Amino acid sequence: LLQLYAPLNFLGFVYREIKHSLADMEKMFTLLGQNTEVQDSPGAKALATSEAALHFDQVDFGYDRNRQILHGVSLAVPAGHTVAVVGTSGAGKSTLSRLLYRFYDVWEGRVSINGQDLRDLTQASLRAHIGIVPQDTVLFNDTIYYNIAYGKPGASREEVIEAAKAAHIYDFIQKLPDGFDTMVGERGLKLSGGEKQRVAIARTVLKNPPILIFDEATSALDSKTEKAIQAELKAISANRTTLIIAHRLSTIADADEIVVLDGGRVIERGDHRSLLEADGAYARLWALQQHDDESQPLPLLSAG
Ligand code: ATP
Repeated sequence: LLQLYAPLNFLGFVYREIKHSLADMEKMFTLLGQNTEVQDSPGAKALATSEAALHFDQVDFGYDRNRQILHGVSLAVPAGHTVAVVGTSGAGKSTLSRLLYRFYDVWEGRVSINGQDLRDLTQASLRAHIGIVPQDTVLFNDTIYYNIAYGKPGASREEVIEAAKAAHIYDFIQKLPDGFDTMVGERGLKLSGGEKQRVAIARTVLKNPPILIFDEATSALDSKTEKAIQAELKAISANRTTLIIAHRLSTIADADEIVVLDGGRVIERGDHRSLLEADGAYARLWALQQHDDESQPLPLLSAG
């Protein structure tokens, strides 16, 4: 019965959203990245794993045939490890996360999890294994409880409360006039950037996926919030296979590997220390950020 309830509940939600506002539908589909370009192949298998190793092998990709964005990109995230991707604006960092979520298929090369090509997996099982903390979390015009519980259809109230605590948003919610029943989103209470990211973290904690994508916000949060969010992310990324799309070097110095992209090509890779020793593009960026306010997004590589 529960299995039947979840899709029915979702359909009910979609219907309510259509009834309320078309703008919200657009936003929701942008959020979910609904895309009919990608279909399950006949005989696609369900991904079932609690440990996931990611591989991008020689990936070529562009959104349209006239403009190639990624050129032979290879990177690996061993199970439970954290890899951060840095580079100029437009270098193709977020594109990697879109390919991993399979909003698009690669032109050449392949993306795989535990050796299984994403194109041979069902989209539903793939996406069930990935949690995304996006740059800008879109909130539904519903209660804050609903917005967190969305991470796991059928979650119990205790689970939602635990997730809110893990994301350090529980005390904030308790102080709201209607607590978890407070309406948020455009027609309710507006949350700050940091609070919205915490909602996304709580959703992800509830979902409990083996793979985590963290697309760091371009717009800076205040540095206290930024540090707190980093600590929370570090806690939830422990033992998960994590890909960080980074805009600030200060947030990724302890990643297992840092991959530097420029113009859709990997130009450097290594850990923070070895990249500084190599004294190349990453070291130049690091030096630049030491002078600047470290909460600023990355400057262009070519400016270094
Ligand atoms: P930023 O740091 O600014 O977020 P990024 O490195 O994450 O940049 P991507 O978002 O991966 O960059 O974009 C890489 C390139 O692909 C950009 O030139 C962008 O204009 C283009 N691009 C991104 N999304 C689309 C899309 N849906 N359709 C067409 N082109 C796109």
